[in-house]
Amino acid sequence: MPDPTETTLATVFNNREAIGQILIQRTPLAGFVLCHRDDQTNDHVETFAQAEDAIEIARYDDDGNYRPLKTAPNLRHGWRLNLADADQLGRTIDYFYPGRLAMIEAWNQNRLITTSLRDTLNRQSGMYRIAAKISDEQIEEVVGNFCRSSDGCLRTILWKRDGEGGVASTELPPEKFDPGFDQTGKNRRAVPLLCQEGCSLLVNECREAVKGETNE
Ligand code: SF4
Repeated sequence: MPDPTETTLATVFNNREAIGQILIQRTPLAGFVLCHRDDQTNDHVETFAQAEDAIEIARYDDDGNYRPLKTAPNLRHGWRLNLADADQLGRTIDYFYPGRLAMIEAWNQNRLITTSLRDTLNRQSGMYRIAAKISDEQIEEVVGNFCRSSDGCLRTILWKRDGEGGVASTELPPEKFDPGFDQTGKNRRAVPLLCQEGCSLLVNECREAVKGETNE
């Protein structure tokens, strides 16, 4: 995937003011100010000025717990990031939400390839090979619990359950599969965080479900 360019950013953020839990505001000098969407009117925040500062901000949640899934809806509050230009904006978004700008670029150009969960599970090896034994009923429950936007993950699911095009989980609402929907539920113009295939954390959840069933 190519690096996001200034042109790409302009396209992606055209008429959009947020990505995930991050609010993005333009400054008169072609810069950008980023903050948690809950902190738009909060002046008691710590101020940062480098794209790399996003790495630390994204590492832990409000309680100091490590965030293994960067698109989980638990981005910490209390910060503001002043960025000089679009190049810094692109790098910053990639630190907060790794790979997501490249995905939206590919999606905009109709070249985003998705992988069904069954295919993702079938290609696992070693200790994760057992995950492929998961039943459709278990997938319904695991995906419904693990990927839901309220407390699981803010990505919009584009992949199917299997080669027949089965929906990932009927326990998720239709909006979970709609890139036009703001997964935070705040109903603002947001760039979607696209999920093109089941992530390693979901694969592990599938493995755990199978192990729980079989006691292996
Ligand atoms: S599979 Fe996609 S939607 Fe589900 S938790 Fe992983 S990244 Fe999020």
